Amino acid sequence: MAKAREIEDNNGFEMGKPYYCKECKRNHTKGKIYKEHLNFALFENNDEDEIKDKSSELNNDDYDDEAELIEIFNEINNEENNVEVENQLEPDIKLDSEDILDNSDSKEACINAVKKLPGVGEATLNKLIKAGFSSLESIAFTPPSIIQEESGLGDKTTAKLIKASMEKLNIGFKSAEDVWEHRKNIARVTTGSQELDDLLGGGVETGSVIEFFGEFRTGKTQIMHQLCVNVQMPEEKGGLEGRALYIDTEGTFRPERIIQMSEGLDLDHKKVLKNIIFGRAYNSDHQILLIKEAANLIKEKNIKLIVVDSLIGHFRSEYIGRGTLASRQQTINSHLHDLLRLCDIYADLAIVVTNQVQAKPDVFYGNPLQAAGGNVVAHGSTIRIYLRKGKGEQRIAKMVDAPHLPEGEAIFSITENGICD
Ligand code: ADP
Ligand code: MG
Repeated sequence: MAKAREIEDNNGFEMGKPYYCKECKRNHTKGKIYKEHLNFALFENNDEDEIKDKSSELNNDDYDDEAELIEIFNEINNEENNVEVENQLEPDIKLDSEDILDNSDSKEACINAVKKLPGVGEATLNKLIKAGFSSLESIAFTPPSIIQEESGLGDKTTAKLIKASMEKLNIGFKSAEDVWEHRKNIARVTTGSQELDDLLGGGVETGSVIEFFGEFRTGKTQIMHQLCVNVQMPEEKGGLEGRALYIDTEGTFRPERIIQMSEGLDLDHKKVLKNIIFGRAYNSDHQILLIKEAANLIKEKNIKLIVVDSLIGHFRSEYIGRGTLASRQQTINSHLHDLLRLCDIYADLAIVVTNQVQAKPDVFYGNPLQAAGGNVVAHGSTIRIYLRKGKGEQRIAKMVDAPHLPEGEAIFSITENGICD
């Protein structure tokens, strides 16, 4: 993906003006433009009138990159996914004679709860919903600065809303016993390999961000595919009877693999495919936005697994050079916190991300490869698994970091039918 850079005055594009990019299906603005994407700009000849038209369409005064992104996302989502999603809602979608049900009722209940907060009128409610804060949980767990920024509400209103939501949800100090009660509700999705499941303490657990990192072809994407299939199975078979949401940043999602894996499990692949909600993130902004939007789909669409493959690929290629390191890490950090917040809100949601490795030049002993993203990612994800190649189709997984699990290794295989021992 192209590198974001400042526009130079002399290359024909004026600073601060939005340019519609066919590649990203969005306007680049705020003085930034994606270099290679200049080729995709609609205004190839810099037609002044055309630019003006587009600009006024956007109502330049309160033009806002984020709002534009939301619109674009909705567009893409409507075009690409909703067709699928709509189909998913047909009552004949069954898995092992069990329905994966939507919770549109609970969405309404969530919004009603927000509506009942003190001081929330029609206008405030609309702003909150538009910005994606349509439940008490999402308000209570989001830092005030983010709510303010996204909803446009004032700091006093925001503070009041957060306080009221926390009171309603009974959030505060709790006893370790309560924490234990909460953790007892944590469920697990099987990876398809008993050994790998054992390493993870019984499968991929909900309520955490789990990171798989490793070199090319070590099976990261394969595991992501397999989890999307497995999460749909009933509990006794290692699933959560829920849908999966797949955010693909590298263009490596392959429905063909889902079909093969479904067949390996004797599942109807058509139903399995319909229950995977897919989003292709074309750049880091888009990726961040997809996750923010996902928050609104989780309850409604009964999503039990979110996949981000890969977490920081876009960030790495868009922020180049030492000078951008700080802002890159900050953005990754806030993106990761969006994910962690989802885990806090939905205890029955599993989040898995993949990460590339990069060579660490100053390591002479031990493994010179290190997960990309540095400490930010290392500290953000709860459980980290390092993958490397073994013989043939074998892969070795090593538990690198987990708050409650012992270190260890597991060997699994990648076959045509998916992940197995
Ligand atoms: P990465 O870690 O780069 O995401 P992948 O998850 O894409 O790696 O793993 C690629 C590997 O998965 C291939 O090298 C191959 O061993 C295995 N693989 C992919 N498709 C199949 C298949 N249809 N049958 C068997 N093995 C496969
Ligand atoms: Mg991959």
